[in-house]
Amino acid sequence: MHAIILLGAPGAGKGTVAEDLKQQVGIVHVSTGDMLREAIRAGRPVGLEAKAYMDKGELVPDNVIIRMVQERLEAGKPEDRFMFDGFPRNVRQAELLDDLMPKCGGRITHVFMLEVPREIVIRRISNRRVCRQCGAVYNLIGSMRPKVEGKCDVCGGEVYQRADDNEVTVANRLDVFHRETAPLVEYYQAKGVFVRVDARDRRETELQILQQLGLSSQ
Ligand code: AMP
Repeated sequence: MHAIILLGAPGAGKGTVAEDLKQQVGIVHVSTGDMLREAIRAGRPVGLEAKAYMDKGELVPDNVIIRMVQERLEAGKPEDRFMFDGFPRNVRQAELLDDLMPKCGGRITHVFMLEVPREIVIRRISNRRVCRQCGAVYNLIGSMRPKVEGKCDVCGGEVYQRADDNEVTVANRLDVFHRETAPLVEYYQAKGVFVRVDARDRRETELQILQQLGLSSQ
């Protein structure tokens, strides 16, 4: 199975784009953040371990993440095209993924860096809301508002603000992104799979990615 990676600061739109492309072209969206939030909701030990880090905006230890990703890859089908959102987050995770991919008979075909100015990222995050039940993402400003306030359009679940979407934690998450994740640019440039994408507009972002993948949306 092959893999595509979406890199970008929190609020760059990785989750939204991956969900749209899942609908449009059938990629398999793998978000380590969603997996961790689901583990917390279900009260699993891995969730309890991760929560303290997430609440502070710190990275969850690499061994926890890589175990989770490995299980997800092993559950995949050979024809799957995975789109990782929020993983890898640092060079160590990227190296571990490089070890895992050949074992799954695949490789990383594209790494997209979704670039958005800092002030837009902060505005997006402070207005972001998420469905507690199915993880659908909304924004209180613009076209992504829930149709009924506080309720998910998809499943009717409660729409809430993520605990780590507060001002203090967001500032730390942005620092962590620049310190830990930004070095992946060079890492993937060296491998010849890196593509920068202007991600200010959702549709434009998706078109750029589809074009790079040699696909078109329906
Ligand atoms: P996200 O939903 O991608 O914004 O992730 C939310 C939080 O989950 C992050 O701030 C981290 O605490 C944790 N997290 C998600 N993915 C990873 C990862 N690949 N490595 C370490 N921590 C992660």
